[in-house]
Amino acid sequence: MNNHTDEIVEILRKEMLCHGAVSLADYMKICLTHHKHGYYIRNNPIGVKGDFTTSPEISQMFGELIGLWIAQIWIDHRRPKKFSLVELGPGNGTLMADILRATKMVEGLHSALDIILIEISPFLQKVQKKILKNFPVTWKPEIKNLPTQMTIIVANEFFDALPINQYRRKSGQWMEVMVTLKDLNKLASKEFCFQLMKTDKRILADLKIEEGCTVEISTVMRDVIHYLSSHIQENSGAALIIDYGKEGNVGDTLQAVYKHMYSNPLTSPGQKDLTSFVDFKAIKTYAEETGAIVPNLTNQGDFLRSLGIEERAEILSRGLNSNALKLHKSGLDRLINKDAMGNLFKVLGIRNENSPPLIGLET
Ligand code: SAH
Repeated sequence: MNNHTDEIVEILRKEMLCHGAVSLADYMKICLTHHKHGYYIRNNPIGVKGDFTTSPEISQMFGELIGLWIAQIWIDHRRPKKFSLVELGPGNGTLMADILRATKMVEGLHSALDIILIEISPFLQKVQKKILKNFPVTWKPEIKNLPTQMTIIVANEFFDALPINQYRRKSGQWMEVMVTLKDLNKLASKEFCFQLMKTDKRILADLKIEEGCTVEISTVMRDVIHYLSSHIQENSGAALIIDYGKEGNVGDTLQAVYKHMYSNPLTSPGQKDLTSFVDFKAIKTYAEETGAIVPNLTNQGDFLRSLGIEERAEILSRGLNSNALKLHKSGLDRLINKDAMGNLFKVLGIRNENSPPLIGLET
């Protein structure tokens, strides 16, 4: 345990002793983004030395091809003189740096750019500032008040980090999965456990699932998707969401990762990444509620292949020595292979109803 974990345990304990069990969403929110002690706030979780590695960190090709995707969307929108390029949860800033390097040669694109990074962590904002020091960037801790102009939004492994509520069907009733102290009577208790609590939330009324099954709902995700889809509807543009996930909300997918290993989500709070599988069906529904168009979900392997990752890999492999070539090939493999990230990771586009079809997703 470290000091930050002790503090988070204390914050949770106090809350539970005063008000009872907390929802899973509140537990995740405190552990991940508490303004002083949260996991993302004081840590760099990404990379070999951290807890997990993401696609932009595996190969520069990932960001280069997303750069190509962005350039094509901008061209398809008739090269507006000004547009916002927004990234949600930019981590180390690697994806944005690769996007900017890959789009440098597209005439007029960089001078049209307003780069906006949505990042809750002051620690990671600093990391991003360093890598993007040559570009004018605006930071915001949450997605709101975007400029009223054409907007392209990208998010890689952002939505899996948003808090979820879990509900379970038990004895013909809806129960909410809560987190509480293992022994509430012992004031000194510092261990947490799950507890089911009866609920009659309206959102559950029409859901039909089998006894014993769990459903996951993220109201934070709903609000983010409503905002960004309405913004795209009003101002034109598109969004690209890449993450691990599923189409539907049934199943318990909460997971904790620490030093690249799965771990218990209820121990050492604030020291582990807590995530869940993104419900792409819910994203589609929320986006369509605003009138935006959402093409069929595709997987990362097919998306990157359709943008030409294999051809790009072939070009980059020329002139690499044997060690670098091995690394390069394994990077490609991890990104697109079905047994690696190629199938587990999904890609969902959202666009304005009057925008041209999205490259790699509809064409
Ligand atoms: N996109 C990056 C990093 C993914 S990790 C990559 O692919 O490498 C998740 C990122 O989202 C981190 O930058 C984290 O600080 C940020 N984040 C998590 N929850 C957030 C929230 N509620 N609001 C804004 N940013 C958040």
